[in-house]
Amino acid sequence: KPKNRLTAQEYIDGILQGSRVILSRAITLIESNLESDKILAKEIIQAILPHSGKSIRIGITGVPGVGKSTFIEAFGKYLTSLNYKVAILSIDPSSQRSKGSILGDKTRMEELIHNENAYIRPSASGDTLGGVANKTGESMLLCEASGYNIILVETVGVGQSETAVHGMTDFFLLLMLAGAGDELQGIKKGIMEMADMVVINKADGDNIKKSEMARLQYQNALHIFPQADSGWTPVVTKASSIKNTGIDTVWEHILKYKTLVETNGYFDENRNHQKIKWMYNNINEELKHLFYGAPHIKSKLSTLESEVITSKVSPVKAAQQIIDSFKKNI
Ligand code: GDP
Repeated sequence: KPKNRLTAQEYIDGILQGSRVILSRAITLIESNLESDKILAKEIIQAILPHSGKSIRIGITGVPGVGKSTFIEAFGKYLTSLNYKVAILSIDPSSQRSKGSILGDKTRMEELIHNENAYIRPSASGDTLGGVANKTGESMLLCEASGYNIILVETVGVGQSETAVHGMTDFFLLLMLAGAGDELQGIKKGIMEMADMVVINKADGDNIKKSEMARLQYQNALHIFPQADSGWTPVVTKASSIKNTGIDTVWEHILKYKTLVETNGYFDENRNHQKIKWMYNNINEELKHLFYGAPHIKSKLSTLESEVITSKVSPVKAAQQIIDSFKKNI
C-alpha cells in the first residue's frame, strides 16, 4: 500500500480513539468521488456504526445574516464549557471548497476553531442536495463514533436544504430576527412548521424591546400549527449571540425536549424513520445514476428528445420506451 494511505482498520481505530486528523481524513474519503475511496468509506462507516448514534443532533437554520455562525460560535463555546464534545457540520449544496461555507471565511467561529472539544467541518461540495446531505449524514456518524455527543448541522437557509437537515436531526432550531416584516423573512411556512424552537437573535441594545414583541408574535403564530408528532410544543425565545444572553436557555429547552421524546418514545421512532428514509434516498440516488449513466440510455435519450419535440412520440410513450430498453439491458 502507498505510504500515506491508511487501511480501513487504521481509519476505524483512529476514529474510535478520537483522532481529529483521522476523522478529517475519513470525512474526506466520504466526500471523494473516487470509486476506491467510496468503497473504503462504506467499509469504515459499517464498522463504526455500532459506536454511532449516541448524540443529540441539532439542525440550525435561518436566513443569511441572521447570525447563524455567531450563534453557533456562542452556543458551541457554551456547550464545550459544559464538557460536551461538539461537532459542527453544514449543508450547503451551492458551496465550493474554495468559496467555502463555514471555514472559508476566516472570521467565522474563530474561537471555536481552536477549541479542542469542537470539530468544525465545512459543507461537502456536490451537484445535488441529496448527494451533499448523504455525505453530511455519513460524516455525522463518524463524528459520533469519535466521541462527539452534540452534533450541530447548519444549513444556509435557502431552498430545500432545511428539509434535508430536518430529516437527519433530532431537534430543529430556527433563528429569526425582530422587526423584519411579516413575510417571515423569506422563511416559508413549511420551515416554521418544522421548528422545535425559534430563537429571535440579536436581542441586544435597541433591539431588545422589538425582539420581545417578535417573540410573542411568533409564539402566537406557532400555536396555529397542529400539534407535532413529538408531543412537543415549540418554544420561542430571545438571544444575543454577541452578548451571550439566552444561549443557556436554548440548551435548557433542548434538554427538556430530549427528556420528553426519550420518555414518550418519539426519539427512537423518529430516528428509525429517518434511517429508513435515508436508505430509500440512497436507492433513489443510485438508481438515477445507474439509469442516466448508462451509455445506451444517454444516446437513446437524445434521439427521443427530438422525437418528443416533433410529436413523433408522446412524452409518456417515450418514457416507456426508454425504461423498456433499460430493463432489457440489466
Ligand atoms: P449568518 O450569515 O447567519 O451566519 O450570520 P453571521 O453570524 O455571519 O452574522 C451576521 C451579522 O450579524 C454579523 O455582522 C454579526 O456580527 C451580526 N450578529 C450576529 N449575531 C448577533 C447578535 O446577537 N447581536 C448583534 N447585534 N449582531 C449580531
